[in-house]
Amino acid sequence: MGKLPENMKAIVKDGPHYGAKMMTVDVPKDLGAHEVLVKVKAVSICGTDLHIWLWNEWAKEHINVPQILGHEFAGEVVAVGSEVSLVKIGDFVSSETHIPCGHCKQCRTGNMHVCQNLKILGVDMNGAFAEYVKVPEIVLWKNDPSIPSIWASVQEPLGNAIHTIFTEDVAGKNVLVTGAGPIGLLAIGVLKTAGAAKIIVSEVNEYRRNLAKEIGADVTVNPKNQSLVDIVKKETDGDGADVLIEMSGNPQALHDGLASLTNAGRASLLGVYDKDVQINLNDLVIFKAIRIYGITGRKMFETWYKGAELLKNKKLDLSKIITHVLDFDDYEKGFKLMEEGKCGKVVLKL
Ligand code: NAD
Ligand code: ZN
Repeated sequence: MGKLPENMKAIVKDGPHYGAKMMTVDVPKDLGAHEVLVKVKAVSICGTDLHIWLWNEWAKEHINVPQILGHEFAGEVVAVGSEVSLVKIGDFVSSETHIPCGHCKQCRTGNMHVCQNLKILGVDMNGAFAEYVKVPEIVLWKNDPSIPSIWASVQEPLGNAIHTIFTEDVAGKNVLVTGAGPIGLLAIGVLKTAGAAKIIVSEVNEYRRNLAKEIGADVTVNPKNQSLVDIVKKETDGDGADVLIEMSGNPQALHDGLASLTNAGRASLLGVYDKDVQINLNDLVIFKAIRIYGITGRKMFETWYKGAELLKNKKLDLSKIITHVLDFDDYEKGFKLMEEGKCGKVVLKL
């Protein structure tokens, strides 16, 4: 590790307040046997980073300051611990955010993403908004060199979209996406590749409705001044949508999304709600025979294979979904764009 610098730039949540600061900190060199040091090339700003930036209630409970933010990245392996065998120096990698223990019931039965002892990169430990990041090898993902680092850095949220969509098949089906934030926009791109019949997107933000159209939504709805249920019914010959992909975290969107589903339809819920949500289970779920899936994170590493193959084989174009690529030093501008919602994915380049 002789050639590594002593210090690096990092975006640090420096105290219990709004924002974060670019600071000079030590390069993490204390690698454990199974740890890897990655030189970061691109980092993408996630909604979680925004929550930490805004210092909302969730962040207050989960983040110990000072801490380096960020978890969606791509970069190059520059040092490996003594027992690392999955990657070597020079490999181009990204990383899963959910760090599993590898020993619990879920880890041993193909459900590492809901490990009982889950730790989250950039939440429970220093993250990737830095020139170098230390990660355990178990979460590393080797990227194909043909994928640009800016695209490779968004594979983690892309995996959220893939996981949500493919809990059942979507080919030839009419799909309603509620919420066209960065992940909803990625979902529209994935739905196009997966042969969805009609893609209906509900979004309150005009910029994102327009973006949804450009990416491939067949119909966009502003639920603030149009009845989502009526439009979905009209667009599906009165039947309702076959699939609901809930990506807004808004209770009204969940309610109207379920009400827009056809009987025996499927709902996959990724959106996270601020508070407990009340819905009429009898009318919206039970008597309609709806299947509801709760989605957390990505299937490790099934969804990574799917996302990486779509990118490698040029089946999914992220150029319209990644609306802003900024210099690492311009991070404040990136967070402001996220705050205003005038963006798709925002990526910082190092
Ligand atoms: P985001 O908050 O940027 O996007 C949500 C979008 O929903 C916004 O564009 C917003 O304008 C729109 N919206 C709000 N109210 C609406 C309504 N009534 N109808 C239609 N659209 C509405 O979030 P994101 O980063 O794209 O993530 C999507 C959701 O998934 C968020 O709720 C996020 O917290 C959640 N999430 C869950 C997981 C998980 O593992 N379950 C992982 C990542 C993100
Ligand atoms: Zn994320």
